[in-house]
Amino acid sequence: MDKIHILGTGNAMVTKCYNTCFTLSHNEEHFLVDTGGGNGILSNLEKLNISINNIHNLFISHCHNDHINGITWIIRSVAQGVLRGNYEGNLNIYCHKSVGETIRTICSLILQNKFNSVLDKRILFHYIEHGDSLCILDSKVTFFDINSKKELQYGFTLKDEAGMTLTFLGDEPYRDDVYEYCYNKDYILHEAFCLYSERDTFKPYEKHHATVKDACVNGEILKAKNIILYHTEDKNILNRKHLYSKEGKEFFSGNIFVPDDLDEIPLNSK
Ligand SMILES: [Zn+2]
Repeated sequence: MDKIHILGTGNAMVTKCYNTCFTLSHNEEHFLVDTGGGNGILSNLEKLNISINNIHNLFISHCHNDHINGITWIIRSVAQGVLRGNYEGNLNIYCHKSVGETIRTICSLILQNKFNSVLDKRILFHYIEHGDSLCILDSKVTFFDINSKKELQYGFTLKDEAGMTLTFLGDEPYRDDVYEYCYNKDYILHEAFCLYSERDTFKPYEKHHATVKDACVNGEILKAKNIILYHTEDKNILNRKHLYSKEGKEFFSGNIFVPDDLDEIPLNSK
C-alpha cells in the first residue's frame, strides 16, 4: 500500500467534518474502509480525485450509521456505472454477516430495483469471520473481532509486499485480547474521541471511546512506529492537530498523525 487518503475524521455526531473513513491506495486502486454516514462520501472521494471506477474492494467494520450509511451511495454509484457500462469488474464488499444483511435490507428499501438488480452479480458480498485472511491490492489482510461490548465489530491487520504493517481497530479502543493483531506494527489506526484533559466535557468512557492519552499509551505498549488518531469530537477542530499532537507526545515516542479530512498520509515501513 502506498498511502492513506483520509475521507473523514469525525465521530458519529460531528457537523464540522465527515465521519471517519478512508482509503488505502496501491497504484491506481483504492481499498475503501467504512463509508461514513451519507452522501458526503461521494463529494470527498471527488475532492481527492478518487474515481469510483478505481474502487473494487470495500470493508465495513460494523453496523452503526456513521460507518455504514454511506454505502448506499457507493452501491448506487457503482450500480449506475455498471448499468451504463462505465464500471469494469466487480465491487467486493467484505464484512461480517449481520453487516451484509443490514446493507441488503437498507438497499432493498431505499434504492431503485434497477440498482438492486446489480447486487450478487457485480456487487459481491464476502462474509468474513474472525481470523480470516484475504489478499487485497497485493496485501495480506487478516480480519479480527475487536471484542466490542456494544455491537459486533471487526478490524483488520495488513501486511503489504514491502513488509509494511498496519492495524485498523475500528472505532473502539485497543483491547489486550487482540494483542496478536496489533503488536509491533508500522501503523496503528486508533480512535481518540477527545483530549484526556477534556474527558469531563466530552465523556468518552461512557461511549466506550478513548482519549488521545489512552490511544497513545496503547500505541507505546504495542511498540507502534506511527499512530493515526481520528473518530474525534469536532469542537476543537481548528486546533485539533496541535492540541492532540501535544497531548499525545507525552505518552507516545513514535510519530503521531492527527489528520484533517482529505489529508493524505504516505505509508512506508522505515
Ligand atoms: Zn463510529
